[in-house]
Amino acid sequence: PSDATVRNFHCLHDPFTRFSDQVSCYLARTNPETMGIIRANKEKSPMFNGQIKGVGARYCPSIEDKAFRYPDKNIHHVFIEPEGLNLDTVYPSGISSSLPAEVQLDYVRSIEGLEKAEIKVYGYAVEYDVIDTTDLKLTLEHTQIGNLYFAGQVNGTSGYEEAAGQGFIAGANAALALLGLDPLILSRHESYIGVMIEDLTSNTRDEPYRLFTARSENRLFIREDNSLLRMYPYRAQFLLNTPLDNYQRKFLDSYQDLLDFCDETMIPEYSPLMAEFSGEGELQKMARRMSVTEILKQAWLNPIFTLERVLGYHGVKVSMDLMRTVAISKKYDGYIKRSETQYERLKKMDGMKINWEHLLGSNNISFECRQRIARIKPETFGQLKLIEGIRPATLAVVAAKAL
Ligand SMILES: Cc1cc2nc3c(=O)[nH]c(=O)nc-3n(C[C@H](O)[C@H](O)[C@H](O)COP(=O)(O)OP(=O)(O)OC[C@H]3O[C@@H](n4cnc5c(N)ncnc54)[C@H](O)[C@@H]3O)c2cc1C
Repeated sequence: PSDATVRNFHCLHDPFTRFSDQVSCYLARTNPETMGIIRANKEKSPMFNGQIKGVGARYCPSIEDKAFRYPDKNIHHVFIEPEGLNLDTVYPSGISSSLPAEVQLDYVRSIEGLEKAEIKVYGYAVEYDVIDTTDLKLTLEHTQIGNLYFAGQVNGTSGYEEAAGQGFIAGANAALALLGLDPLILSRHESYIGVMIEDLTSNTRDEPYRLFTARSENRLFIREDNSLLRMYPYRAQFLLNTPLDNYQRKFLDSYQDLLDFCDETMIPEYSPLMAEFSGEGELQKMARRMSVTEILKQAWLNPIFTLERVLGYHGVKVSMDLMRTVAISKKYDGYIKRSETQYERLKKMDGMKINWEHLLGSNNISFECRQRIARIKPETFGQLKLIEGIRPATLAVVAAKAL
């Protein structure tokens, strides 16, 4: 079953309301027989016999992919997920396949627990085309075909959130354009949507694009808990004045108040709180007057529990969401500031002019990468940086030459 406590996506929903009953998933495993059946039928798989030429999403491999990519591994997880509260069908997650029906039935029944399984819908593979996303603006409007917006898998991405994020930007911008208002462009520095759309519009790719936290230079700051703060300026420009806007404004004010409280409230060394917060062998470190901010930064303390305790002790009542945001912001403040400085430094370099033609002769750059450079013709360091496959070493050489 799911977690016992619930956190909702929407800040105005009651965090402890569940919207449906909970049912269990089960875990099964493939075995040498399962993988043997798959390996023996390699030539019947369109993904391996050349019928399908495209590459699948690296992060959702089919069971054939697993069989041939990891020839020495025979045990793979199969999550048995009920398809609905009132259905008797399950989705076996982890064994997607394009093998013929009789082979699928064979290997499914070789799995312990699924010996008597019947298959209602067999697995299959589809191959689809994508557009060249370097032809799109940051609003996702096509540069050559005005008023036409692209979002989702057609842009070469794979994933629910990737599709939803682009759909939101494309839809909002289509509406804003109709209303004659300024476009909505989220910055790379403040949002993953910004990272994704900048990556897509400055690059072509050889495989489906997935958004990872590692693609962001600012991932300590782009967090779920502070989304209200990050999105405030974008939302405020539309003067919507909905309950969400009011909540957001209040959140922002209370956030600042609570930050100030942490900076200004001093806890003396003889306070019972200090004894509670002293970790094993750390008593010495708490033997002086400290601000709440300083206490929250102590390595052995969970910042959320600690702030909750301090606020309870002082009789200060705030929402759980606000407390989490402040506690996390304070705990990682030093790291966030450092990454901010690095980002600012990099950003300054982004505008630096480079000579892309020189790079084509470099041995330090892979053939595929040189091809991409020749196609994209990056004129600045910032554009070069975003080209998929550019090695940090290459960037370092270019940066050193340009400085
Ligand atoms: C088996 C499988 C498992 C996956 N698992 C995951 C997962 O666990 N996590 C994850 O994040 N992603 C997963 N993905 C990827 C994810 O589902 C897709 O990347 C995402 O749903 C794409 O959304 P989209 O809106 O771009 O396209 P789609 O969801 O494909 O929407 C396109 C829509 O356009 C409609 N359409 C097509 N042509 C026309 C036409 N001519 N006129 C009108 N309508 C048309 C289609 O019917 C469809 O409804 C999985 C994909 C598959 C196939």
